[in-house]
Amino acid sequence: MKKIKKIIIGSNNKGKLREIRDLLPRNIKIKSPIDFDLKSPKETGKTFEQNSLIKSKYFSKKTNLVCIADDSGLEIDLLNKKPGIFSARWAGKDGNFKKAINRVFKELENKDKNWKKKKIKARFVCALSIYNLNKKIACVIGKVEGKIASESRGKNGFGYDPIFIPIHKNKTFGEMKPSLKYKLDHRFKAFKKIKKFL
Ligand code: IMP
Repeated sequence: MKKIKKIIIGSNNKGKLREIRDLLPRNIKIKSPIDFDLKSPKETGKTFEQNSLIKSKYFSKKTNLVCIADDSGLEIDLLNKKPGIFSARWAGKDGNFKKAINRVFKELENKDKNWKKKKIKARFVCALSIYNLNKKIACVIGKVEGKIASESRGKNGFGYDPIFIPIHKNKTFGEMKPSLKYKLDHRFKAFKKIKKFL
Protein backbone atom coordinates (compact mmCIF):
# COMPACT_ATOMS: atom_id res chain seq x y z
CA MET A 1 0.00 0.00 0.00
CA LYS A 2 1.12 3.54 -0.74
CA LYS A 3 2.32 5.53 2.28
CA ILE A 4 -0.34 7.91 3.52
CA LYS A 5 0.72 11.57 3.28
CA LYS A 6 -2.45 13.25 4.43
CA ILE A 7 -5.19 12.00 6.74
CA ILE A 8 -8.34 13.32 8.34
CA ILE A 9 -9.07 12.45 11.96
CA GLY A 10 -12.78 11.73 11.92
CA SER A 11 -13.75 13.33 15.20
CA ASN A 12 -15.18 16.59 16.44
CA ASN A 13 -14.22 15.77 20.03
CA LYS A 14 -11.30 18.01 21.06
CA GLY A 15 -9.91 15.51 23.59
CA LYS A 16 -9.82 12.70 21.03
CA LEU A 17 -8.45 14.94 18.28
CA ARG A 18 -5.56 15.95 20.53
CA GLU A 19 -4.82 12.37 21.52
CA ILE A 20 -4.97 10.87 18.01
CA ARG A 21 -2.95 13.79 16.60
CA ASP A 22 -0.20 12.99 19.13
CA LEU A 23 -0.18 9.33 18.11
CA LEU A 24 0.12 9.84 14.35
CA PRO A 25 3.54 9.91 12.65
CA ARG A 26 4.96 13.44 12.37
CA ASN A 27 5.33 13.32 8.57
CA ILE A 28 1.58 12.88 7.92
CA LYS A 29 -0.42 16.04 7.27
CA ILE A 30 -3.42 16.06 9.56
CA LYS A 31 -6.86 17.49 8.90
CA SER A 32 -9.98 17.51 11.04
CA PRO A 33 -13.71 17.86 10.26
CA ILE A 34 -13.50 21.48 11.45
CA ASP A 35 -11.27 22.31 8.42
CA PHE A 36 -14.13 21.19 6.15
CA ASP A 37 -16.97 22.52 8.27
CA LEU A 38 -18.29 18.97 8.64
CA LYS A 39 -20.47 17.70 11.48
CA SER A 40 -20.18 14.11 12.70
CA PRO A 41 -22.59 11.54 11.21
CA LYS A 42 -25.31 9.86 13.29
CA GLU A 43 -23.96 6.90 15.23
CA THR A 44 -26.54 4.32 14.30
CA GLY A 45 -24.37 1.23 14.93
CA LYS A 46 -24.83 -1.24 17.76
CA THR A 47 -21.13 -1.73 18.50
CA PHE A 48 -18.00 0.41 18.84
CA GLU A 49 -16.65 -1.13 15.62
CA GLN A 50 -19.78 -0.30 13.61
CA ASN A 51 -19.84 3.30 14.82
CA SER A 52 -16.12 3.76 14.18
CA LEU A 53 -16.55 2.51 10.61
CA ILE A 54 -19.58 4.77 10.05
CA LYS A 55 -17.37 7.77 10.95
CA SER A 56 -14.22 6.80 9.03
CA LYS A 57 -16.23 5.98 5.87
CA TYR A 58 -18.34 9.14 6.10
CA PHE A 59 -15.43 11.56 6.55
CA SER A 60 -13.30 9.83 3.93
CA LYS A 61 -16.04 10.05 1.30
CA LYS A 62 -16.85 13.66 2.18
CA THR A 63 -13.24 14.83 1.95
CA ASN A 64 -11.56 12.43 -0.51
CA LEU A 65 -8.91 11.79 2.12
CA VAL A 66 -7.95 8.67 4.05
CA CYS A 67 -9.74 8.86 7.39
CA ILE A 68 -8.90 7.44 10.82
CA ALA A 69 -11.81 7.51 13.26
CA ASP A 70 -12.44 6.17 16.72
CA ASP A 71 -15.51 5.18 18.60
CA SER A 72 -14.95 4.74 22.26
CA GLY A 73 -16.63 4.59 25.59
CA LEU A 74 -16.75 3.34 29.13
CA GLU A 75 -18.19 -0.05 30.07
CA ILE A 76 -19.18 -0.58 33.71
CA ASP A 77 -19.83 -4.23 34.58
CA LEU A 78 -22.33 -3.54 37.38
CA LEU A 79 -24.38 -1.46 34.92
CA ASN A 80 -24.45 -4.26 32.32
CA LYS A 81 -21.68 -2.49 30.37
CA LYS A 82 -23.44 0.88 30.26
CA PRO A 83 -22.87 3.65 29.20
CA GLY A 84 -20.89 1.76 26.47
CA ILE A 85 -21.63 3.12 23.01
CA PHE A 86 -23.86 5.72 24.69
CA SER A 87 -20.96 7.30 26.62
CA ALA A 88 -21.06 10.58 24.70
CA ARG A 89 -24.85 10.66 24.68
CA TRP A 90 -25.04 10.49 28.50
CA ALA A 91 -23.44 13.94 28.52
CA GLY A 92 -26.30 15.42 26.50
CA LYS A 93 -26.17 17.73 23.50
CA ASP A 94 -23.88 20.23 25.22
CA GLY A 95 -21.34 17.56 26.22
CA ASN A 96 -21.76 18.09 29.94
CA PHE A 97 -19.63 15.40 31.57
CA LYS A 98 -20.52 16.46 35.09
CA LYS A 99 -24.00 15.35 34.15
CA ALA A 100 -22.76 12.07 32.63
CA ILE A 101 -20.65 11.31 35.70
CA ASN A 102 -23.56 12.09 38.02
CA ARG A 103 -25.68 9.66 36.04
CA VAL A 104 -23.01 6.97 36.51
CA PHE A 105 -23.02 7.58 40.28
CA LYS A 106 -26.81 7.58 40.43
CA GLU A 107 -27.17 4.34 38.46
CA LEU A 108 -24.51 2.67 40.63
CA GLU A 109 -26.33 3.86 43.75
CA ASN A 110 -29.60 2.38 42.43
CA LYS A 111 -27.91 -0.97 41.79
CA ASP A 112 -26.07 -1.18 45.09
CA LYS A 113 -26.18 1.31 47.98
CA ASN A 114 -22.75 0.08 49.11
CA TRP A 115 -21.04 0.44 45.72
CA LYS A 116 -18.46 2.92 47.06
CA LYS A 117 -17.02 0.21 49.31
CA LYS A 118 -16.70 -2.25 46.43
CA LYS A 119 -14.49 -2.66 43.41
CA ILE A 120 -16.59 -1.50 40.47
CA LYS A 121 -14.94 -3.11 37.46
CA ALA A 122 -14.93 -1.06 34.29
CA ARG A 123 -12.98 -0.60 31.08
CA PHE A 124 -12.49 1.96 28.36
CA VAL A 125 -12.90 0.53 24.87
CA CYS A 126 -11.73 2.08 21.62
CA ALA A 127 -12.48 0.91 18.09
CA LEU A 128 -10.12 2.59 15.64
CA SER A 129 -10.75 2.27 11.93
CA ILE A 130 -9.27 3.49 8.68
CA TYR A 131 -11.26 4.04 5.50
CA ASN A 132 -10.12 5.15 2.08
CA LEU A 133 -13.20 6.30 0.16
CA ASN A 134 -15.24 3.09 -0.24
CA LYS A 135 -12.51 0.81 0.99
CA LYS A 136 -12.19 -0.40 4.56
CA ILE A 137 -8.48 -0.56 5.36
CA ALA A 138 -8.61 -1.74 8.98
CA CYS A 139 -10.66 -1.85 12.18
CA VAL A 140 -9.15 -2.81 15.55
CA ILE A 141 -10.10 -2.73 19.23
CA GLY A 142 -8.08 -1.55 22.23
CA LYS A 143 -9.15 -1.84 25.88
CA VAL A 144 -7.89 -0.69 29.26
CA GLU A 145 -9.26 -2.43 32.35
CA GLY A 146 -9.82 -0.61 35.62
CA LYS A 147 -12.37 0.48 38.19
CA ILE A 148 -14.66 3.39 39.01
CA ALA A 149 -13.53 5.88 41.69
CA SER A 150 -15.95 6.68 44.51
CA GLU A 151 -15.80 10.37 43.61
CA SER A 152 -14.65 12.57 40.73
CA ARG A 153 -10.90 13.32 41.00
CA GLY A 154 -8.55 15.42 38.84
CA LYS A 155 -8.93 18.06 36.18
CA ASN A 156 -6.86 16.59 33.33
CA GLY A 157 -8.17 14.78 30.29
CA PHE A 158 -11.79 14.72 29.21
CA GLY A 159 -15.04 12.79 29.47
CA TYR A 160 -15.03 10.13 32.17
CA ASP A 161 -11.31 10.51 32.97
CA PRO A 162 -11.94 11.84 36.53
CA ILE A 163 -13.75 8.63 37.61
CA PHE A 164 -11.64 5.95 35.94
CA ILE A 165 -8.71 4.31 37.76
CA PRO A 166 -6.71 2.05 35.43
CA ILE A 167 -5.54 -1.33 36.68
CA HIS A 168 -2.36 -1.33 38.86
CA LYS A 169 -2.66 2.45 39.53
CA ASN A 170 -4.38 4.41 42.25
CA LYS A 171 -4.86 7.69 40.44
CA THR A 172 -7.72 8.45 38.07
CA PHE A 173 -6.93 9.34 34.45
CA GLY A 174 -8.05 12.85 35.40
CA GLU A 175 -5.26 13.08 38.00
CA MET A 176 -2.54 11.79 35.67
CA LYS A 177 -0.28 13.78 33.41
CA PRO A 178 -1.62 13.43 29.84
CA SER A 179 1.71 11.89 28.75
CA LEU A 180 1.19 9.04 31.23
CA LYS A 181 -2.51 8.55 30.44
CA TYR A 182 -1.83 8.34 26.70
CA LYS A 183 0.55 5.42 27.20
CA LEU A 184 -1.91 3.40 29.25
CA ASP A 185 -5.16 3.99 27.51
CA HIS A 186 -7.47 2.14 25.12
CA ARG A 187 -6.73 4.48 22.19
CA PHE A 188 -2.96 3.87 22.46
CA LYS A 189 -3.54 0.10 22.57
CA ALA A 190 -5.76 0.24 19.49
CA PHE A 191 -3.27 2.52 17.76
CA LYS A 192 -0.44 0.03 18.29
CA LYS A 193 -2.50 -2.52 16.34
CA ILE A 194 -3.43 -0.17 13.50
CA LYS A 195 -0.21 1.74 12.89
CA LYS A 196 1.12 -0.80 10.39
CA PHE A 197 -1.66 0.33 8.04
CA LEU A 198 -0.49 3.94 8.02
P1 IMP B 1 -17.87 8.81 20.74
O1 IMP B 1 -16.83 7.78 20.43
O2 IMP B 1 -17.69 10.05 19.96
O3 IMP B 1 -19.24 8.23 20.67
O4 IMP B 1 -17.64 9.29 22.22
C1 IMP B 1 -17.07 8.48 23.17
C2 IMP B 1 -17.23 9.07 24.54
O5 IMP B 1 -16.62 8.15 25.44
C3 IMP B 1 -16.49 10.37 24.75
O6 IMP B 1 -17.29 11.49 24.53
C4 IMP B 1 -16.11 10.27 26.21
O7 IMP B 1 -17.17 10.60 27.00
C5 IMP B 1 -15.89 8.80 26.42
N1 IMP B 1 -14.46 8.52 26.27
C6 IMP B 1 -13.86 7.92 25.23
N2 IMP B 1 -12.53 7.88 25.44
C7 IMP B 1 -12.32 8.49 26.61
C8 IMP B 1 -11.12 8.78 27.33
O8 IMP B 1 -9.99 8.48 26.94
N3 IMP B 1 -11.31 9.41 28.49
C9 IMP B 1 -12.52 9.77 28.96
N4 IMP B 1 -13.64 9.55 28.33
C10 IMP B 1 -13.55 8.89 27.15
